[in-house]
Amino acid sequence: MMTVKVGINGYGTIGKRTALAIAKQDDMEIVGVTKRHPSYEARLAIKQKIPLYVAVEEDTGAFEREDLPVSGTLRDLVEKADIIVDCTPGGVGATYKKLYDEVGVKAIYQGGEDHAMAGVSFNSFANYHESWGAMHSRVVSCNTTGLIRTLYPLDRVFGIERVFAALVRRGADPGDRRGALLNAVEPSLKLPTHHGPDVQTIMPWLNIQTMAVKTPTTMMHIHCIVADLKRKGSDVDILSVWDSVPRIKFVSGRHGIKSSAQIMELARDLGRSRGDFMEIIVWEDGVRVEGKTLYYYQAVHQESDVIPEIVDCIRSMMKLEEDAIRSIRKTDRSLGIGK
Ligand code: NAD
Repeated sequence: MMTVKVGINGYGTIGKRTALAIAKQDDMEIVGVTKRHPSYEARLAIKQKIPLYVAVEEDTGAFEREDLPVSGTLRDLVEKADIIVDCTPGGVGATYKKLYDEVGVKAIYQGGEDHAMAGVSFNSFANYHESWGAMHSRVVSCNTTGLIRTLYPLDRVFGIERVFAALVRRGADPGDRRGALLNAVEPSLKLPTHHGPDVQTIMPWLNIQTMAVKTPTTMMHIHCIVADLKRKGSDVDILSVWDSVPRIKFVSGRHGIKSSAQIMELARDLGRSRGDFMEIIVWEDGVRVEGKTLYYYQAVHQESDVIPEIVDCIRSMMKLEEDAIRSIRKTDRSLGIGK
């Protein structure tokens, strides 16, 4: 079997999880990750026996002074890899496109970059084939991935006339020092928010509007969604559609899961790596249908829901598996999703 050589630029929240996920695939291998500073995460990479590269050549001395063995610079890594997963902060990935193009390596960007820069955005279910053999693709953000996971199957079965989603966003990731709100709720004043147009990079036909507020929690995003369906379905019909697709998991308030805190506790109880939940979590007793209008809540674990999508995106761009569902099932088996 062909093994694809994957390099990761940016070993932070998404980069670390991507590295771990790729290490579990039999058709890909990690050839290295980059760090800017000789931080604890740089030490973690060495401990995990992942070759470490310096993102900015001038910083090599700082790593040497800390006795951290580096295998070269970002350019060396890019030249070694078949594909780079760019996991640098939003807006930074675009600055590396020139380098990836110069070397002729394929690259996956994250949701913090613009769709136009990559030219194609990715979701495993909705448009796996649009990235087939592509040089560049962008895995959409955690929120957009969450919205598409539940809306795409509904649209296929019932048709969707219109969607409104209110996003209650986590203020920062748990390990983040920046951007965290201590005691405030901050509405996004640019309305409607960018999340709707981002969903439309993958489902351009969908009539969707979004609003968002940032809240003082680090755990998960919660989406409050109202969808007008073209064809009527009961709550049981809706749940059975979601039950038939991977990467959606049900929880129930009746069983004591009333908040994001208990969802994260469940992830830890299930022994999920890092306490992550890569599925989108839907409250089965929070689904209601009135006429053709559907109301539901879902929770998105922002640090991890995009990770299986990144693995599938590599398979599509590297032409490793033509069948989207086969790639999804392979990824999910390897990552323990659905257990
Ligand atoms: P992060 O800050 O946790 O990690 C970014 C990493 O890139 C850090 O290790 C940082 O040192 C490194 N870095 C910074 N500048 C660099 C440079 N010039 N060259 C190379 N490396 C550099 O960020 P993250 O949360 O992992 O986000 C990465 C991307 O993923 C963003 O586009 C973000 O929008 C997207 N994303 C984030 C989340 C989330 O909730 N964390 C979810 C989905 C998508």
